Amino acid sequence: MVDKPLVLMTHDLPADWIGNSLDEYQIILGDNTQRGIDNKLKRYLPEASGIICLLDDPISSEIINQAPLLKVVSNMAVGTDNINVKSCTSLGIPVGHTPGVLTDGTADLTIALLLSVSRRLAAANQDARDGKWLSWEPTGWLGRDLKDATVGIIGLGKIGSAVAERLKPFGCKLIFNNRSPLPDQETNLNARQVDLDELLTTSNFICLHVPLTQETIGLIGKEEFEKMKPTTIMINTARGPVVTTDALIEALQNNQILAAGLDVTDPEPLPPDHPLYQLPNCFITPHIGSATANTRRVMAGIAIRNLKAGIQGKPLPYCVNPEVYNIF
Ligand code: NAP
Repeated sequence: MVDKPLVLMTHDLPADWIGNSLDEYQIILGDNTQRGIDNKLKRYLPEASGIICLLDDPISSEIINQAPLLKVVSNMAVGTDNINVKSCTSLGIPVGHTPGVLTDGTADLTIALLLSVSRRLAAANQDARDGKWLSWEPTGWLGRDLKDATVGIIGLGKIGSAVAERLKPFGCKLIFNNRSPLPDQETNLNARQVDLDELLTTSNFICLHVPLTQETIGLIGKEEFEKMKPTTIMINTARGPVVTTDALIEALQNNQILAAGLDVTDPEPLPPDHPLYQLPNCFITPHIGSATANTRRVMAGIAIRNLKAGIQGKPLPYCVNPEVYNIF
């Protein structure tokens, strides 16, 4: 009998998402309560042909170097900042991701956060439950209007553009900052591309949609918060380290900005005693941008397709480092 190729999976996925699609492999499952390549998986690295991992599983060059037979790393996420892609590329290992399919889910969540924070839904819900709904208060739970507000989007890629599309009917003024010029999007979205300074100083709402890269780590820090209005609401559904956490805490504590809605934080997961939870003007969700049943199922399907292609030596349907096919 021919040995089946060995695949390391850092986390279990529901049987009805996978079906029989992984039957041709010997699957070694990691411990669901641990992140990354845990001690059990580490033992199998020398024989592994493929890895399926999640966005909070660090896949370092040290891990990659222990897997001489590795043919593919397949991430069940669009962002691949958890993987040392450079190291994979230098060894000719393609890295798969799941772009596009989580655009709508993440854009929906961004709008949900924007409205929840601007209309103070968490406080209103809690106060109603706590018996603080005593009358119709003319000045109670006052929020901020989206209509006529300036919304600044940083990173107008797939998710940033989908957020902009969703915002059109609200009647806000859209501006955006993006690394490369996007003249067509200015027309399509009736939005103006501006430099970062103008976006920071003029926006009532700021939504972050850049990937986490060397260029975007700490993109929003002390200096940037100082430029924002005291009425600004900032929403981050990109990656936690795009914002400097200490500077964010200071900006929220000192009312340098009005409030923040965060689906992503630094660190992740945010420990229960973290100071961000103490701030009433901070609304936090546990990285649920893509968390709809349909989206997650489709993401798992793509991650498996990428894995299979990689093990068969074929181009991955969704590859972040296609240059691996040309460098040897
Ligand atoms: P995308 O289509 O690649 O868009 C990223 C955009 O950011 C591109 O337009 C890019 O510009 C721009 N950009 C890159 N660096 C920049 C910089 N320094 N300044 C300004 N703009 C910059 O990616 P996407 O699918 O929209 O996803 C964006 C990110 O969202 C992902 O990388 C991931 O980290 C995060 N995400 C989070 C969740 C969640 O669960 N919360 C779910 C999905 C994705 P260029 O055109 O010049 O490259």
